[in-house]
Amino acid sequence: MNAENKCSYCSQSKCCQYSTVEVETPRSIRDFDNLVWHVSHLNTHLFKDTDGWYLVFYAQCQHLEPNGNCGIYEKRPFICREHTNDHCEYDMDIKAGAELYFMDYEELDNYCAKRFKNWHKRFEKL
Ligand code: SF4
Ligand code: SF4
Repeated sequence: MNAENKCSYCSQSKCCQYSTVEVETPRSIRDFDNLVWHVSHLNTHLFKDTDGWYLVFYAQCQHLEPNGNCGIYEKRPFICREHTNDHCEYDMDIKAGAELYFMDYEELDNYCAKRFKNWHKRFEKL
């Protein structure tokens, strides 16, 4: 396998199975509460790596064809054009490469309860 044919071994075209958006580094209870809302949605995860914090939305791109080709190759967005297969999701998925990774409400809620001693009392002032 080499850079030329590597993608042909990637049966699910892993880099076309999700989108991400960077979020500001969460610091306060309210910041994390907002993220708890996000990860409460199906297929929405949160992770932190050396570059920062990101939401990841697992949903296959509508342009991915059954044979693994891009249906809009000539018009694909910059993010797709700039993505290289040098060290990509085929080598290590997002979760394995993350410092912190939260798949759902429960995982992030547990993390926040350890991080903030008042986490479970945050609604009392309302
Ligand atoms: S760039 Fe990586 S993740 Fe994307 S299709 Fe090629 S091998 Fe798979
Ligand atoms: S536009 Fe093409 S290359 Fe980009 S994510 Fe969709 S299928 Fe993959």
